[in-house]
Amino acid sequence: MKIIDVKAYCIRQEVPHKFIWRNGLPGSGKYTESTWLRILTDEGVEGWSPISRGVIALDLIKRRLVDELIGQNPLQKEHIWHRIWELDRIEEFPMYFLGAVDVALWDITAKVAGVPLYQLLGGYRDKIQTYASTVTFPTTEEFMDVADQCLDYGFKAIKLHAWGDARRDAKLCQDLRKRVGDDIALMYDGSAGFNPYESLYLGRALEEADYMWYEEPMREFSIGAYRKLSESLDIPVLAAETSDGCHYNVADFIQQGAADMVRTSVHYKGGITGAMRVAHLADAFQMNAEVHGGGPANLQICLAIRNNTFYESLIPCNPIVVETGIDREGYIHAPTLPGVGFEVDLPKLEKMAFAQL
Ligand SMILES: [Mg+2]
Repeated sequence: MKIIDVKAYCIRQEVPHKFIWRNGLPGSGKYTESTWLRILTDEGVEGWSPISRGVIALDLIKRRLVDELIGQNPLQKEHIWHRIWELDRIEEFPMYFLGAVDVALWDITAKVAGVPLYQLLGGYRDKIQTYASTVTFPTTEEFMDVADQCLDYGFKAIKLHAWGDARRDAKLCQDLRKRVGDDIALMYDGSAGFNPYESLYLGRALEEADYMWYEEPMREFSIGAYRKLSESLDIPVLAAETSDGCHYNVADFIQQGAADMVRTSVHYKGGITGAMRVAHLADAFQMNAEVHGGGPANLQICLAIRNNTFYESLIPCNPIVVETGIDREGYIHAPTLPGVGFEVDLPKLEKMAFAQL
């Protein structure tokens, strides 16, 4: 099997509900640009991969990938992964780009095998609990209202992205625990909004309120700061979501005791291959690799591995809008079609594209 062509389509779409992450972070704009990568083979099987940026991705595909990929066997994913890792040394790819080709190659591989990807990767379960992952709402009252709606819908777990003010966020987290009772799993995501002292203060409040994990309170560039925080708190610190360097970097977080759980994702850890490496690395230390972010590719990882608890589903607005496919018990179910499960309407995509290759 050979790769015979590489195509890409940049599209611009209005964001129906502008994402807001804590005070001070701009969140999403009114429009978002993304690129669909399409890898064609001599046997007619095609692989797809969405990249969450527009012309930047198109430029990298054009300059770095086309010549590299044409003529290669798409089933030799390990070889191609390491070629891209080599190219990264020269180009310093953005993290969201590092695994883009890998996702398309696994899409091809699972289509050739005739199974949904998670079964090829391991196949641990056919459905998984989701958590309602909130954007930042302006007031405590609105967070409580959103939480009520999530529980009414059937969610059994909620994660807050709050304001980034340690005292105010601590109070919110404690109020939410009182509101939902003891049986709902609660998590908190700091989106790297705090310094070490604030992180410790807030972590103690989360411990008291029996939160399940404390995610990314600080930027993830100081192993020392994360080690100190993890040693000081009993609540599991969840880290290494946005740190560069795939499993090589996550290994350092684990080895140094700088996290109690680690993040894995198709977006930031080098595609399916990288996300699975992180998951297996963590498993070897009896640690969870909680899957960051949603979408079809991350769902396949959630279903493939044992050491992950939930699928992350964004609640972008109030009144809440729930992602398609989540049932009233809070589960999302395995796709049945071969491949990763992207639904691509090619004629529509070609028409929508403002730039393409
Ligand atoms: Mg996060």
